[in-house]
Amino acid sequence: MPLGGSARLRCTGCAAAMGYDPLAKFCPWCGKPLVAERPAPGALRVRGRGVWAYSRVLPLGRGVTLGEGGTALVQAGRLGEALGLGRLYLKNESLNPTGTFIDRGVAVDVSVAVELGYRRVVAPSLGDYGVSVAAYAAKAGLRALIFTPRSVEPNKLYQVVLMGGKVRLLDTYTDCVEEAVRYSERYGYYLSLPSSHTVLDGYKTIAYEILRDLGETPGYVVVPAGDGALISALHLGFQEARRAGLLEGELPRLVAVQTEASPVIAMRVLGREIRGAHETLAKDLLVANPLMGDYAVRAIRETRGTAVVVSDRDIVRAMHLLARHEGIVAEPSSATAVAGLARLAGEGLLDSDSSVVVVVTGSAFKDPVLLKRVAEQDREAGRELSALEEGERVGETKLRILEILAVGGEAHPYRVWQTLRRVYGSGLKPATIYQHLKQLEARGLVVGKRVGRRIVYRLTGKGRSVVEKYRESLEG
Ligand SMILES: [Zn+2]
Repeated sequence: MPLGGSARLRCTGCAAAMGYDPLAKFCPWCGKPLVAERPAPGALRVRGRGVWAYSRVLPLGRGVTLGEGGTALVQAGRLGEALGLGRLYLKNESLNPTGTFIDRGVAVDVSVAVELGYRRVVAPSLGDYGVSVAAYAAKAGLRALIFTPRSVEPNKLYQVVLMGGKVRLLDTYTDCVEEAVRYSERYGYYLSLPSSHTVLDGYKTIAYEILRDLGETPGYVVVPAGDGALISALHLGFQEARRAGLLEGELPRLVAVQTEASPVIAMRVLGREIRGAHETLAKDLLVANPLMGDYAVRAIRETRGTAVVVSDRDIVRAMHLLARHEGIVAEPSSATAVAGLARLAGEGLLDSDSSVVVVVTGSAFKDPVLLKRVAEQDREAGRELSALEEGERVGETKLRILEILAVGGEAHPYRVWQTLRRVYGSGLKPATIYQHLKQLEARGLVVGKRVGRRIVYRLTGKGRSVVEKYRESLEG
């Protein structure tokens, strides 16, 4: 069977239909992206789990795989309770090979490149897309070249480079898309674009998996939106599933959540101007010209869905909510969806009897520095962190000395040494304890006072607060 099988392509702008071509990325008449349409796939035989289980509705029967798809759909009881939603589910896409739903699309796209005999692939990336392309290119033995904005998280670049990819830094994401297109035309690279129909076909499998694992059509599906590719792909998937008889009646209402820094799709859905920060923690959503914007807006309207705009503060709060209630550490872009859900639930805009599925698009493990910043912004997590760091700087013996002084009030060094030996079984020499006390005094944690021929030490306010923080963190 030729690539694409019986699929045709349709323009997301002027709606023109054309024959299937895996290399066609944009409409020859109006320049907008294309989607693949398939006639009713008939009885869809699904074997196993994962993206390739749905090969009947993909451009090719099998391809490069790192085990993408087949992610867990978990009921989020505690988060649902916190938000007043009885049937909340999380589609945990952070379980994909590089930690993001993007792997589904890139697995299919890179497989198409391999099938067509390409040796090199070029892609624009805001961060995660490039990591995924580098991973699948490495697996397939292809060279990957990634164009990415300078503002990208360095950790994501390290991963690309580690997997043998090459990276070029440009100013904006729009520059990156244009440069990738030029490069593919000039140097014969396979062009992997997040809006390609071959990529959307992979993303689409999320819709099939939700239907299969939930056993019903969800009332709402909530996703973060940057370029609009994911929400468009879900719409394609649910429509196709309906043609295949896997979904009856209305499609789920699709809800797009965007950041204040990049609310283009939401502005069109809501029909009003939205202004906010220019920067956002959710870097993967920072898209000035969403390629799939037209389709995404239509999909939201057609399904009677909506759009929500959230701030970085909302996103950080959502990261805490998700981590604390469901044990999922999501990256800011995915937490954006939870932030939007919290907003809608708080305003009573969701039908609380309906089932709601939130797509947690990716994991935060790619960016440890960010995790620390986010933890610091939570009162409890922040306290735990500072106690940890303080304790680490002070060291174990010194912490014990501070404890002894906190319990016993004043003490001279010999007494401290005795207690350490008796209570903690410490084998340190008295001279070492003198040293520790001198160092603690130099740091303002204890103060020594001469009494007769001996020096007696007691805690300072600062020393007391170190001990208290340490105790609190142990007691939780
Ligand atoms: Zn067109």
